Amino acid sequence: MAFHKVDYTKENGLPVVLTTVDKLVQWGRSNSLWAVSYGLACCAIEMMAAGGGRYDFDRFGTIFRASVKHSEVMIIAGTLTKKHAEFTRRLYDAMPEPKWVISMGSCANTGGMFNTYSTVQGVDRIIPVDIYLPGCAPRPETLQYALMILQKKIRRQKPNRSQKPKRLV
Ligand code: SF4
Repeated sequence: MAFHKVDYTKENGLPVVLTTVDKLVQWGRSNSLWAVSYGLACCAIEMMAAGGGRYDFDRFGTIFRASVKHSEVMIIAGTLTKKHAEFTRRLYDAMPEPKWVISMGSCANTGGMFNTYSTVQGVDRIIPVDIYLPGCAPRPETLQYALMILQKKIRRQKPNRSQKPKRLV
């Protein structure tokens, strides 16, 4: 009978991984960020492209959902009008804690070129934003990068921290 002996000194030590519960929870959380589909204008087309096979957000564990009750991330893609602002806030409030927001595109970040009576000059006047993604419109790769930055941010946070009230502009 063949006898296989593994030399762990050559294989970089024993096959054991040590970590903390906090890190494990945040690792799991950051790799299953379900995102509410929330396209408001042309940026939404890029967001939809990001969900397709070419960019494949599913491999990050990010699946677009049509329900805020199932979602941890709100990606606001496009121009937010004042008429719509109340609904945005309501949807944000209906999401379970902990939750994060990505503001996608210049219109969502600052109102963009629409410095008009009807446009909200930045979604952070309505809801707290974690990641600002610049561009008009940002490409799907950029959204992917923003998501990866958000994942890093989440991994650095404590899982059971009481969420501080986030600052609005
Ligand atoms: S940033 Fe540009 S692409 Fe995005 S919603 Fe505004 S005008 Fe459209």
